[in-house]
Amino acid sequence: MSDQGRTIDPAEEEAFLDAIDRWIERSVKPVILHHDHNDIWPEQLVHEMVDMGLFGATIGQEYGGLGLPATTYAKIVMKISSYWMALTGIFNSHLIMAAAVERFGTPAQKAKWLPKFASGEIRGGLALTEPNAGTDLQAIRTVARRDGDHYVINGTKTWISNALNGSCFALLVKTDPDADPRYKGMSLFIADKREGFTTGKKFDKLGYKAIDSAELIFEDYRIPADQLIGGVEGQGFFQATGGLELGRINVAARGVGLSEGSLRLATEYAQQRQTMGKPISEHQAIQLKIGEMVTRARAARLLTLDAAIAYDKGERCDLEAGMAKYFASEAAVANSQEAMRIYGGYSYSKEYDIERFYRDSMLMCIGEGTNEMQRMIISKQWVKRNPA
Ligand SMILES: Cc1cc2nc3c(=O)[nH]c(=O)nc-3n(C[C@H](O)[C@H](O)[C@H](O)COP(=O)(O)OP(=O)(O)OC[C@H]3O[C@@H](n4cnc5c(N)ncnc54)[C@H](O)[C@@H]3O)c2cc1C
Repeated sequence: MSDQGRTIDPAEEEAFLDAIDRWIERSVKPVILHHDHNDIWPEQLVHEMVDMGLFGATIGQEYGGLGLPATTYAKIVMKISSYWMALTGIFNSHLIMAAAVERFGTPAQKAKWLPKFASGEIRGGLALTEPNAGTDLQAIRTVARRDGDHYVINGTKTWISNALNGSCFALLVKTDPDADPRYKGMSLFIADKREGFTTGKKFDKLGYKAIDSAELIFEDYRIPADQLIGGVEGQGFFQATGGLELGRINVAARGVGLSEGSLRLATEYAQQRQTMGKPISEHQAIQLKIGEMVTRARAARLLTLDAAIAYDKGERCDLEAGMAKYFASEAAVANSQEAMRIYGGYSYSKEYDIERFYRDSMLMCIGEGTNEMQRMIISKQWVKRNPA
């Protein structure tokens, strides 16, 4: 796989992460509450992310991307998510689309699309889920029928991140709805917005605000056949799920950020808030919580970096990435809930940041394979690696 085996000079990585820190301080922190509370897409921050090269973070340098290894990328996602997780969704799902083209696309597709994805000129995401099919992806009903040198696509995708502000999506369809097994009839397309491709209205969500989620609707959408990723029908299921290791490392990194951010907020508050004549951080009940939170956040970070290091070495890391995704997302939920308790009544005030961490964290347990499925996958992989 083209993105494995990458390395980075430690000094270069440090300089990059320092630049991210400065950007968060200068540009991100001052505007989070306004955008989150009003569910406004952060246009200015998107321009700045384009300038920093984040839309090409994991795309190869030969295509104009930064070509970062998974470890550096995970550290960037952790940092940003420790302040505002939703912001990372704007470039994460875009990069998953790009990874599908970089790994499985034809040389002509890579040459045509990747430089535009890397520069942020074209931005988008991944369109798999349908109203009747999330976990059971093979049940999708969107169909592409060949018509000369085009395909004609009909169907509806739902819950698609960047649906309104993105202009191009890796779109999973059935090219042979009668195939048995079902996955053999699935294909992945580079679907750019044009006639026949419309969007529904923006979903009003619990959290993950500011990034737009909506339906993508395809009605007799005609697309050139050379936008079939890899140029061969029947590879789509493998192509869409082939990037799952990196996708899971990415969700794990968001979970780490949410866990560490919740811990940071709780630590600050527990030292400022006084009851019974002393800071609440000196009460044993709060110490027990913080002790667990620190340990959880650290374990989540180490599991995530463990998976990312294995990925960068080109080693098999499906089990490691699955464990990191599962543990870090549950750590995000647990730490944000404990931080809410430490904040007491003020956790319910929208003037404080902690309620956003509480609203945002649950999504990490759902995306990139629900945690119910994740545990089953971990178990199956573990047993497979340890035959009796
Ligand atoms: C904010 C947000 C953003 C999203 N962004 C995107 C996006 O950009 N692109 C995209 O394609 N999708 C996106 N999704 C969709 C997301 O990937 C799906 O919601 C997720 O895959 C779960 O599918 P589902 O909601 O249909 O749940 P279901 O598949 O209906 O599952 C419901 C419950 O049943 C459990 N379950 C299902 N099957 C099994 C089984 N075989 N064994 C045991 N338990 C099972 C699940 O774990 C879950 O608890 C997004 C969702 C949200 C909420």
